[in-house]
Amino acid sequence: MDKFQESVLEKKIYDVLVIGEGVSGLTAAYALAQKGLEVATFEAGLFGGLVISICELEPALEQRVLCGAELAAELMEANSRLGIASIQKAVLGLKIEGEIKQAVTAVGIFSAHQIVIASGAKLKNLGVPGEADFEGRGVSKCAACDGPMYQKQEVVVVGGGDSALQEALVLARYCSNVHLVHRGSSFRAQKRFVEKVNKSPTISTTWNATVKAITGSAMVEGVCVELANGQIQDIPCTGIFVYIGLAPNSEFLPAAIELSNKGFVITDDKLRTTVPGIWAIGAVRYGYRGLLSDAIEEGYHVADRIYKDSK
Ligand code: NAP
Repeated sequence: MDKFQESVLEKKIYDVLVIGEGVSGLTAAYALAQKGLEVATFEAGLFGGLVISICELEPALEQRVLCGAELAAELMEANSRLGIASIQKAVLGLKIEGEIKQAVTAVGIFSAHQIVIASGAKLKNLGVPGEADFEGRGVSKCAACDGPMYQKQEVVVVGGGDSALQEALVLARYCSNVHLVHRGSSFRAQKRFVEKVNKSPTISTTWNATVKAITGSAMVEGVCVELANGQIQDIPCTGIFVYIGLAPNSEFLPAAIELSNKGFVITDDKLRTTVPGIWAIGAVRYGYRGLLSDAIEEGYHVADRIYKDSK
């Protein structure tokens, strides 16, 4: 039996459906609508995606907006002015047979000639004891939102990429001590973040260390790590922020759309997936470079390609 057969089919056929209202999806929708195409966007959670919890943007964007949430609001308002439909529902699956493609949601089935997958990615969990139990009670994934609650306290940040270092620098504004715990012996983050972290008197790094457990009673009280020599060390802290990379939001996609072994959508250099008429951009896409400027560029690029194909 068709698992989507009870959803109501909307009669309207859009030119393009964009799945995801993160930076890449909102940009693509804007650029498509500017070219006169009829577009709808879908978002199950808050618009903006991962960018809304970033308070320090890339230098080029910082001249335009103060923080990620402001950027997301600016993009959303621009889309609203262009009359782009924003459907506040999760896309549960795609029907992709034939020329008309369909996105299935709990409120109905929406049809279009083309679909852009811009469903982004979520921050990965460590999967250690205590992580789920203390969520919201010391375990956090948003330094900008929760940082002010840790004034003059000690926190741990896990990871060695851009997210971990960027967020450690945010926390250093509030906390007495920020302990970076990294499994490697060097950071993979951008040089500008590494330099700032090295200069910060508030941030210290424990290298070659693996988090084994998050401990506490009512709230987080410490993080237990294993060092390279096998020694176990307890780091007393009241908060732990985990930034160990991204997992793609691609679970709803049909098997015909090829994914990488980690679930990212495979595209060619024109951002086409393995199904004609379906495109992928941003953090859900295999090969996405990760900068906000890349998300914006991919949004414009896919809109150009779709417009050329539709003529
Ligand atoms: P990332 O670049 O994938 O880095 C993840 C970090 O976590 C790595 O240091 C990795 O260690 C570590 N790690 C992975 N799995 C782990 C585990 N199970 N336990 C402990 N540590 C683990 O992820 P990200 O920092 O979230 O960045 C994602 C993308 O967004 C990147 O492309 C990044 O450039 C981009 N980004 C850009 C900005 C910006 O430009 N402002 C800000 C944030 C993110 P290893 O190094 O040993 O592999």
